[in-house]
Amino acid sequence: MNSLHWLKKSCAVALVGVLLTYSGSSFVFADEQSDLADRLEQAQQELEESEQKLDDAQNELENQQKLGSSMRQSEQQLRNEISSLVGQISTTEAQIAAKQEEIDEQQGKIDEQQERIDDRWDDFKERVAAMQVMRSGGMLGMLANVTSLTAFLSFGDDLQQLSKKDREVLDEMNAEKAKLEQLQLELETQRNELETQRVNMQSQQQQLEINKAQLAEQIKEQDKNIDAAAADEQAAQAERDAKYRIWVQAQAEYDRLANQGGGGSVIGDGSVMWPLPGYTRLSSVFGEDRWIWGVADTNHGGVDIPAPAGTPIHVFQSGTVYNSYYSASYGNVVMVDHGGGLVSIYAHMSSRAANVGDVVIVGDVIGYVGSTGQSTGNHLHFETRQNGVRVDPLGYVSPS
Ligand SMILES: [Zn+2]
Repeated sequence: MNSLHWLKKSCAVALVGVLLTYSGSSFVFADEQSDLADRLEQAQQELEESEQKLDDAQNELENQQKLGSSMRQSEQQLRNEISSLVGQISTTEAQIAAKQEEIDEQQGKIDEQQERIDDRWDDFKERVAAMQVMRSGGMLGMLANVTSLTAFLSFGDDLQQLSKKDREVLDEMNAEKAKLEQLQLELETQRNELETQRVNMQSQQQQLEINKAQLAEQIKEQDKNIDAAAADEQAAQAERDAKYRIWVQAQAEYDRLANQGGGGSVIGDGSVMWPLPGYTRLSSVFGEDRWIWGVADTNHGGVDIPAPAGTPIHVFQSGTVYNSYYSASYGNVVMVDHGGGLVSIYAHMSSRAANVGDVVIVGDVIGYVGSTGQSTGNHLHFETRQNGVRVDPLGYVSPS
């Protein structure tokens, strides 16, 4: 009775234990799932924040670059203004030199005129002296004072008339000289105006040179701002990439738990790229029948993309690596689960660069082109399977 009671009791305890255990693990599962959902949501939020920051950083960089290039434009404008001023200054200097030549020529004319006046004045003085002699001392005295034939020939009744003529000529000559001097003065005024212009332009040039030097300093500072903004932008980009990676990981983990054994939802944002950028020629297409090493190989399971050994192979879409090993037929092979029932396979690689469990983002390098396994030359065998059935990879991504 006692032992039966104990048995019943222990069975009840065991049953309760089983129930507890069952409901416990169910709770654990639910907890884990909600944890993963929280983490995914958190990762999503942080990704969005980091993308906003990246946007801001890119805008800031663009603004700083715009500012920098407008400063450089101003600098170029200043340079143009200075060089046009320098041109004007040298033109003005040539004008000043030409004007100075005119002034010198004019001075020559004035000097010649003065000489003529002096000569005439000498003649005049002689004649006046002769007249005086004639009036006071008579013929003999006058003759003693006449030194030239001209003076002698001038001597006569109309001597007085002649001296009057002399005076008229002298007056004309002096008037002519005054005109020459007036012109000389005008030329000098013009030259002085040109000098003033030159001095003004030179001080303008100096001011522009100062402005240019200041602007060059500002540009140097602005270049620092641009560098700083570029560094910020790069950091924001790295931050965003890290957050994206975390988000993809969180999404993959959430999907794995939420859809154990199922396809799961697409990992990452579903964007795709050609695994061998620049290598677009296919040596064999999907579904082709051919001979390899004398053995019939029908219904080719993927596409073959020839490329030199060692060319990096990029995963064509984000996902998680579920196989990475050496196979006799595939050689070095990496298989990636993209969610949604889609997997991609990269075969005959010289070496693998991804391990099982790795979360890979579209474009990540997962290995290098080679000719391992059942292969006749360096190429990538690129294969896709939808829900376990081989399908043409060109249905997902085009060569580019
Ligand atoms: Zn192949």
